[in-house]
Amino acid sequence: MKRVGISRRCAAAGVAAAALALACWSVRADAQQPQPPGTAAASGAGVEIEVLPVKGGVYMMVGAGGNAAVHVGPQGVLVVDTMTEAAADALLAAVERLAPGRPIRYVLNTNADPDHTGGNLKVAEAGSQLVAGNFAGQLGQSGAERAFIVAHESVLNALNAPRGTRRPVPFGALPTDTFFQNRKDMYFNGEAVQLLHIPAAHTDGDSLVFFRSSDVVATGDLFDTTAYPSIDLERGGHVNGVIEGLNTLIDVMVSEQFTEGGTMAVPGHGRISDEMDVVEYRDMVTIVRDRVQHMIGKGMTLEQINAARPTLDYDLRYGAETGPRTTAMFVEAVHQNLQPSRQSAR
Ligand SMILES: [Zn+2]
Repeated sequence: MKRVGISRRCAAAGVAAAALALACWSVRADAQQPQPPGTAAASGAGVEIEVLPVKGGVYMMVGAGGNAAVHVGPQGVLVVDTMTEAAADALLAAVERLAPGRPIRYVLNTNADPDHTGGNLKVAEAGSQLVAGNFAGQLGQSGAERAFIVAHESVLNALNAPRGTRRPVPFGALPTDTFFQNRKDMYFNGEAVQLLHIPAAHTDGDSLVFFRSSDVVATGDLFDTTAYPSIDLERGGHVNGVIEGLNTLIDVMVSEQFTEGGTMAVPGHGRISDEMDVVEYRDMVTIVRDRVQHMIGKGMTLEQINAARPTLDYDLRYGAETGPRTTAMFVEAVHQNLQPSRQSAR
């Protein structure tokens, strides 16, 4: 069956469509129609990928798992987050339609979750490294036949020691280039790309990816327009770190006029956003944190706090009763974080 067109999810994913003034297309792999340059998407294994132009050389891909941010330019393609393992073929097909013949040079991971790193192996193996100077001689004319995978070292550690029922990650899916400082700088496709490590937020290994010339930030799970923050207590997550990280993101972003437009954020999940969207989210997290803190101060138990509904006025937008990220999980994590012995985010 041929399917081409603007889907409902596609429309929902785009911020202020008039501001972008660009169509978003979604196509299944069996469609035969030629695609308009730079807006096409594709599918595989039942996964449909939609592609939205964000700004400059950056596109957002929406499919299965977290959003991917894809940077396209003369040196090739850089992919921030690789969705789920099942979506990898569709993600690669979408990249090929967006940038025909351009090799994937880098994969960046904003955190270690399987919905952000699941496609690492296939996406990296489909790419090739950009090598020059002395390295070119060592690696041969064609260079190494894989893309680099860049992430904070905590991502490598987490992928190397999977929890619960998650299968061990194949060696080829692990980051090849890690950093432990608070920032890693890269230069690719004529623009500065900065990975900013956000300590102790969603996990202990979150990074923002800031495309300085394009003026776009890929935020990973620090910012999610569809849900309350996911705070992974086992991996060092902390609500105060989420708030600090959102403040860092707000520092990086600059609004255009009347607080609209300007720097754009590609969230871990949800729609493209501007600085005010992030400010509202930061305020929401701060208000809920303070309410829970106040209730703890009054001696209320977690059960009593849940019954008092500290998120009530935000539940319509971010709440969930079922699924992997419920409102109760968020409140419980905040409650845990704010116990007197765990007040610090670091
Ligand atoms: Zn996620």
